[in-house]
Amino acid sequence: MRIDLHGGFGEKGRTCVGVSAAGLRLLFDAGIKVGATGREYYPAIEGPANAFDALFLTHAHEDHVGALSWLLAAGFSGTIFMTAETLEEAPGTLRAYADPAEVRAHPIPRGRVELFRPGDTLRVGAVTIRTGRSGHVAGGTWFLVEADGSCLGYAGDVLPDSDVFVMDAIPPCDLLLLDASYGADPISPTERSRAVSEWIARHPGTSLLPTPLHGRSLELIALIKGPFAIEASMRGALEGQIAAGTMLHAQATRALSQRLAAAQQWREGEPLPDCPLLADDGMGFAGPSATLLPRYAEAGLPIVLTGHLPSGTIGQRLHDEGRADWIRLPTHPTLGGNLRIWDEAGRPPVLGHSCVADQLVQLASHVPTLRPDFRTGQSLTLSHGAIL
Ligand SMILES: [Zn+2]
Repeated sequence: MRIDLHGGFGEKGRTCVGVSAAGLRLLFDAGIKVGATGREYYPAIEGPANAFDALFLTHAHEDHVGALSWLLAAGFSGTIFMTAETLEEAPGTLRAYADPAEVRAHPIPRGRVELFRPGDTLRVGAVTIRTGRSGHVAGGTWFLVEADGSCLGYAGDVLPDSDVFVMDAIPPCDLLLLDASYGADPISPTERSRAVSEWIARHPGTSLLPTPLHGRSLELIALIKGPFAIEASMRGALEGQIAAGTMLHAQATRALSQRLAAAQQWREGEPLPDCPLLADDGMGFAGPSATLLPRYAEAGLPIVLTGHLPSGTIGQRLHDEGRADWIRLPTHPTLGGNLRIWDEAGRPPVLGHSCVADQLVQLASHVPTLRPDFRTGQSLTLSHGAIL
């Protein structure tokens, strides 16, 4: 089994992994890299895109799906495996982050989409792909690829300790591609959630909470104790995620439904709400937050950012200028969570994805089988469980 690291290794963004096994060429995720320009915005795939037989998507965030139109424009003609939630969300992500001409010319080819539920086992030729719930977003999944006597675990984006979403343990494997987004951050999600919750309690009036439409929004809503508002276009997507049945903890489903039903709705042109306002995306690159962030900042109104801030985004600039607060609300594993995932997977050799080089080195000091030297563009071979 050959594994090609097409994106997301030694960097955050454009996550994409190629697997060649049993005579097939498979791709796992096809993301873009916010903050990069030109060719570096897309996965580092060499050679023709029609050489790939199938694409498997973990979820519809831009760093995992944003290069789909680009891949289709380059001639990818294989089957696309994804969950119904990912299919629902991907067009919106592509509209926000992909080349508009490519999105128009190459919409998602529904006839080539194979839907599955996390927990299903997929088979393509002699390759078996097991799946499980990721805990990161509704409809999010991880993949376990078995072929040629070797087994590769690809975490995609996961969250093992969410109060909202459920994550299934990744089974033992020979090599694990771990979600290293937060490096070796030791602060637990409980502690971070408390800090975000306290910030919101200190700013009960007009304030802005930029957030991705999928995943973290529900984690935020679960933390808000008082009245809050949502940007009106978010409601359908939020209701859809809450309705995603077994993807969420049962208790969270009930509480979130009640809170969302009570949320005010705010539309462009109306006075700003006198309470915290949730608006997507989380960094001001696309969506209503791209105009709301400068508007709140110019009025000197409180803003709290809670996720990744790529360089060049409005969120990153306002934070650097001291005009927006930042408290990480974990939607990826912190150190304790990754140690647990690694343990449950049988402590295999590990590569970390979605993480810059120096933070990978820090994580490697806690996960002794982690190899922090692998970068986008490199390949490795798994042969009967051994890395060559
Ligand atoms: Zn994600």
